[in-house]
Amino acid sequence: MKLSEVGEIALLEQIKKQFSEKSKNILIGIGDDASVLKPFKKNLLVTTDMMIEGIHFDLRFITPFQLAFKLISVNISDIYAMGGQPDSILLNIALKKETKKEFFDDFFKGVRKALNFYKTKLIGGDISSTYENVYLSATVLGYCSKHITRKGARVGDKIYLTGNIGDSACGLELLKKIKKPFLIHIRSKINKQKKIFNRFFKKISWNIVEPLFIKHLMPEARCPEKFLNYATSMIDISDGLAIDLLRICNESKVGAKIYLDKIPLSKELRQVALFLKKNPLKFALSGGEDYELLFTAPAEKKIEAIHIGEITKSEKVIIDSYGRKKSLSLEGYQHFI
Ligand code: ADP
Ligand code: MG
Repeated sequence: MKLSEVGEIALLEQIKKQFSEKSKNILIGIGDDASVLKPFKKNLLVTTDMMIEGIHFDLRFITPFQLAFKLISVNISDIYAMGGQPDSILLNIALKKETKKEFFDDFFKGVRKALNFYKTKLIGGDISSTYENVYLSATVLGYCSKHITRKGARVGDKIYLTGNIGDSACGLELLKKIKKPFLIHIRSKINKQKKIFNRFFKKISWNIVEPLFIKHLMPEARCPEKFLNYATSMIDISDGLAIDLLRICNESKVGAKIYLDKIPLSKELRQVALFLKKNPLKFALSGGEDYELLFTAPAEKKIEAIHIGEITKSEKVIIDSYGRKKSLSLEGYQHFI
């Protein structure tokens, strides 16, 4: 059945049924003109991000379930990057009239999965029809005791990452070649997925690409809880290490030096990049959509994260294993391609 045959009222009713939950701080949730929340005793964080078909995603290789999970992850990642905890979400979606009802249902299954994963609640939103592309937007409310901005990095601080980078961009590169969805979130279908993949690429194994696909299609935002007491500045990697580190530098009015051989690259990324005849560092430095946290902390603190460099007065460089320096600029990373 198409959405045009179901109608807005029935769709809204379904959302209300599926997502009306009781919670101490939500006095009125889905179903009225606005939701009513009890204010937190902490600082309120608010963030919003949209995802547009053709710009941010391609429905030829991401499923509605994965898309919903990713939309929520991307937004939660911004709350985490401020040092906060998510509380509740508003979701705006615009779908074509001829979209199948199954698309809608699968999308909201993905919403449920993400809400459970991040322990948040859906408290409202909007739906609309659209003529061409799918438009999605989420707004997340969260709270924090102490917010961590991009502004606090100090000379001498160490620079850290919470995990490997470049995987998402490398996964995307493969998906663009295959243009088929992979149901990586359904374990029982994995053997079938392997077969589909091997029809396209015989020389790399599914086990190598699966983590890259997962990182691109269903990224998990990183909770910064362990670092809250130490981090002086923080950002989530959405546009690539180079751009996002420069954002911290610009806001904090400092420089940075990072070491090429400390940049965490997964073995899967290295293997697939070799296969694609691409430099894995290109994916790491300029790929983006990693949703790992990049943060700084005083050098003397013991931090359980991956140390990649130091904050400097003004110099912004990447240093290779021979000690050669290259400028860490948007053009800079291209020297390494
Ligand atoms: P209004 O006419 O006041 O804009 P709607 O008819 O659009 O209200 O929505 C009815 C209720 O359903 C509202 O509480 C709204 O927040 C909720 N809602 C609408 N779309 C969504 C959605 N995509 N996700 C969650 N809640 C939604
Ligand atoms: Mg409305």
